[in-house]
Order: sequence, then C-alpha cells, then structure tokens
Amino acid sequence: MDMNVIYLDTASSTPVAQEVIDVMLGYLGAGSCYYNPSSAGHILGQQAADSVLEAKSVIANLLGCHSDEVIFTSGATEANNLALRGIAYAHAATGRHLVTSLIEHKSVLETCHALEHKGFVVTYLKPNSHGRIDPETVQKALRPDTLMVSLQYINNETGVIQPIHEIAALLEDAGVLFHVDAAQAVGKFAIDLEKTPIDLLSLSAHKFYGPKGIGCLIIRNRRYLKLEPMLTGGGQEFGLRSGTLPTHQIHGLKAALALACNCQTKNYTHVCDLKRQFIEGLQQSLSIKIHGDVAHSSPYIVNFSVKGISTEALINQLSAAVALSSGSACSSGTIDPSYVLRAMGIEGEDLYGAVRASFSQYHQYSEISAAVRHIISAVQRMQELE
Ligand SMILES: *Cc1c(COP(=O)(O)O)cnc(C)c1O
Repeated sequence: MDMNVIYLDTASSTPVAQEVIDVMLGYLGAGSCYYNPSSAGHILGQQAADSVLEAKSVIANLLGCHSDEVIFTSGATEANNLALRGIAYAHAATGRHLVTSLIEHKSVLETCHALEHKGFVVTYLKPNSHGRIDPETVQKALRPDTLMVSLQYINNETGVIQPIHEIAALLEDAGVLFHVDAAQAVGKFAIDLEKTPIDLLSLSAHKFYGPKGIGCLIIRNRRYLKLEPMLTGGGQEFGLRSGTLPTHQIHGLKAALALACNCQTKNYTHVCDLKRQFIEGLQQSLSIKIHGDVAHSSPYIVNFSVKGISTEALINQLSAAVALSSGSACSSGTIDPSYVLRAMGIEGEDLYGAVRASFSQYHQYSEISAAVRHIISAVQRMQELE
C-alpha cells in the first residue's frame, strides 16, 4: 500500500474516522458490550439491545424520523433492494408500476431489471443533458397503478443534486411512495424527514467515515407501510431484516453520522474551497470540460474530461500518484464508458475521457495542489508521446 497516493476517490469509500473506531471498540472484544441484542433473556443481551435502541434514537434525531423507522442493513445496496423488492412484492395486488431513472446506482437499476422479470413494469426516466431529473417528467410518468418512485439524491458519478424536495412534494400530492437513495448525501447535506415527505431513504456508513457493511433503510410510518422481507430467520428489525444485529457496525454508523452532521456546514465550506481550487488549478493549464449541472452540484464530486485524453490512459498514468475513478466502482476491473454520462447525451471524446475526482473534509489544500500538478504533468507527458 502506497501512502503517498493522493486519494481523490472518497465517493467510492472513506476510511473509518478514529473517533468512530474508538466507539466501535466498545462493542467488539472481550470485556466490551459484544453481546447478542436478541439474547434479551440475560442482562448482558439486554444491555446490547438497549445500546441498539440508543443508536437508533441518535440516528433518528439526526435525520428527523422516529427510532422505530430505522432498519439496519448491510449497506445502501441492501437498503435499495429492500425498498424496491419489499414494496413491490408487498403491494403487487395494488399496482405493478415503478418509476426510476437511467442514472441510478446499479443496486437500483439491476433490482428494477429483476423486478421486470417478475412481471413489474418500470419506467426509466431520462435526465436532461446536465444530469438532472425534471420533476415534470416524474409527474408525467405516473400511472394509476404506480406504486413507488425511486430516485437518488446525489448522483455518485457526476455529483448532480436532484430536485428531491419538489419531487417529494408532488408525489405526496399524487399519493405515490417515494424512495430516495441518499448514499452520497447523508452527512453532507441536511436531511430532515420531518419536513420532506420521503417514505423510504437508503444510506451507507462507509460513504461518511463509518465502517463498510452497515447502512440503513429508513421506513417512514413503518407501522402502516407493508414491506416483504428479503431475509427471513430470527425476525430481527420487526421481521423486516433477520440476522444478528452487528452492534459494533451499528455504533460505528451512529458515531460517523453524528460526527458528519455536527460538522456538516464547516465541512461543506471547506470542500467547496477544495473543489474550486482543483477545477481552477486544472483550468490554468488544461482544456477541461465539466460534466453535470454546475449550479446543482455536490462540492464533494467533480466529473470532467481533458481534451484528447482517455479515461483509462489518465487513470493508469496517475495510478501511483493520484487515485481517480472512472465514475462508479466497477467489479469487472475494466473501464466501460459511463452509462450515467451516456444517458445525459454525452458522447465521443467527452464520454471516453470522463474522470471523477471526489473530495473530503480531511483533504488539505496542499494535497489538492499536488494532485493538480500530477494531473497536469501526466497529461503533458501523454501529449508529448503522441
Ligand atoms: C455507494 C453507493 C451505493 C451502495 O452502497 P453500499 O453500502 O456500498 O452497498 C448505493 N447508491 C449510491 C448512490 C452509492 O454512492
């Protein structure tokens, strides 16, 4: 592992913050509160169960929901699966139509494809050329048998912010459920479920300095909203997600969320400065094109192409100096052109040259300027080779 690599891939994962690790250690080893929260027959299991309730209460307060609306999952992939499959299968008798977009995370898109094979009908909305979903296109896609609309808050490849509040309001009026994949937004943008009528919300701890393997699905009005569980067994999480609760992960998620939310404004301001420094630095020496709506964009992510340079060439050329990404973390290891950018109508050199950089509150200005220097000299080397 080369510690000198400048890591600009925080949108794919972040390290666990030290204060979060310290909290997690209280639920891991011998002498800690490592007990099974379902073993409520003894006082030790009861302590673990109480600690889970405390964690849910902290999470609920930070997001503006109720403790018993927080359902722990292994991450946002599972939360998205539970939201889509859970609602679809429980309400198939009422309707079989779902609405999502072409630029969702694969955990939403592939789940929707699987549901199509089970007889559901899915409308995939096209974003505009800036990567935004127009609330009007959502309105137009609704049918009398539409069960739910599922859209992301922030796109993980472009950082584009979707008009979630407008869409939530129109869906509330239409009486259609709204699921939001907020994996790139939680801890970075204020989310108040008290004020925004979102029915289901997915999040993942490792995107905000918590551990991998834990996330949750928030289910508003859970007592009245039926979902078909995907995992059956011991009946944990009100029967919605069986399996022994991973207390150390849960407290890691709680601590990371509290840390992120408490420093949200400060972090946001700093990351805005970093992104501006990065873009302006590159623009001084290179001809770059930025993809996605710059007026509605997360400061944590920028997606850009350098004129005449391919994604693969730039990422490989920099691999030992700056960790950049082609957009989404691909399991194949090969770099395919982004389906997100393609859906926005981006093609040719811009599509095949797109690179994502993602930032965090822990980055220093000096790291960003070093990354900019590395990128500029890598591009200049490649141009000389031609
Ligand atoms: C990372 C991410 C996911 C998947 O989360 P995991 O917890 O890694 O499964 C889903 N949606 C978006 C937008 C993401 O960025």
